Amino acid sequence: MAEQILDDFVAPFLISGHELLTTPSLGIAVFPDDGEDYDTLLKKAQSATFYAKQAGRNTYRFYTEAMNNNAAEHLRIYNGLRHALARQQFVLHYQPQVDLSNGRIIGAEALVRWNHPDKGLIPPASFIPVAEESGVIVQLGEWVLREACRQAAQWQQQGLPPLVMAVNLSGVEFKRGNLEQSVEQALADSGLPPPQLELELTESILIQDTANVLATVKRLKSQGIKLSIDDFGTGYSSLAYLTRLAVDKLKIDQSFVRHLVQEPENGPIVRAVIQMAHSLNLIAIAEGVEDSHARDFLLEHGCDEAQGYFYSRPLPADDFAALLAQQG
Ligand code: C2E
Ligand code: MG
Ligand code: MG
Repeated sequence: MAEQILDDFVAPFLISGHELLTTPSLGIAVFPDDGEDYDTLLKKAQSATFYAKQAGRNTYRFYTEAMNNNAAEHLRIYNGLRHALARQQFVLHYQPQVDLSNGRIIGAEALVRWNHPDKGLIPPASFIPVAEESGVIVQLGEWVLREACRQAAQWQQQGLPPLVMAVNLSGVEFKRGNLEQSVEQALADSGLPPPQLELELTESILIQDTANVLATVKRLKSQGIKLSIDDFGTGYSSLAYLTRLAVDKLKIDQSFVRHLVQEPENGPIVRAVIQMAHSLNLIAIAEGVEDSHARDFLLEHGCDEAQGYFYSRPLPADDFAALLAQQG
């Protein structure tokens, strides 16, 4: 029957003079072996559908117990994410960014976590890819922007020293969302001055759909916000975009910084990125500074700013504010 259904979909649909092709993926759960009620059967059929899609679509899969673990986990995250925003389960932690010359906090990076009712705090690596796949990242990204701007403005109103708030962007937000409007809205609602918002882009965002991304980023920049390239040195760079986009900052990826002592071959890379940043009039910031050796190396080679466990882990808002207040 599954093959018959797939066969029936081979012929294109003719709609308003266009030929539309579909590639169905079927997941099958069987009563009563896989379940005795509708909800159980549907859940298992959905798991099986996920496997059919993974197998390249246009095919079918019967549910098996082995699918349960992987696919169910994926499905749980997928389904849970859809409700997580409405249920206010996301929280932002803030990691200090310091001026290397004196160790003072001059910025914060907003890092999202999912406060799951059963599993506790889930790190972004476990759900951002699923959020990107399902499109939830667009609303999530909007929320992160709004919340990070609101928080930065509030700290300032409370008399804490002004900061630059850095927010990570996903490539999907460029494609699907209305990024410019979200940024404008977040700034307008919070009252945060545009130069105190920094957007972190990765090299991978810049190489997909370049013309569109370039245009969007240029318009964002003209509002006065800052721009940094995250995880610099790990992607495929076209160095031309650094000047074309009027980038402000390069964030040297933590894989080069974390083990500067244990892996001395990273030293020349870090040095070269700092020099390149400076000859392009950009600020160099090192991520993943975990010990005083890395700090000393960076200072010696003229790096401007740093972020890492040596200074502080990402902190809940209240702890961050306390740290900032303590510095006076
Ligand atoms: P990222 O933007 O490169 O953020 C830095 C990551 O390195 C953070 O992990 C941070 O906790 C970790 N880190 C900072 N200092 C150190 C250190 O000294 N040693 C080590 N080992 N790690 C350090 P986190 O919070 O798990 O975030 C992981 C990634 O998830 C981020 O990488 C970013 O790409 C993504 N992400 C986080 N929040 C958001 C968000 O709101 N939107 C989007 N699109 N992506 C986000
Ligand atoms: Mg980042
Ligand atoms: Mg990074």
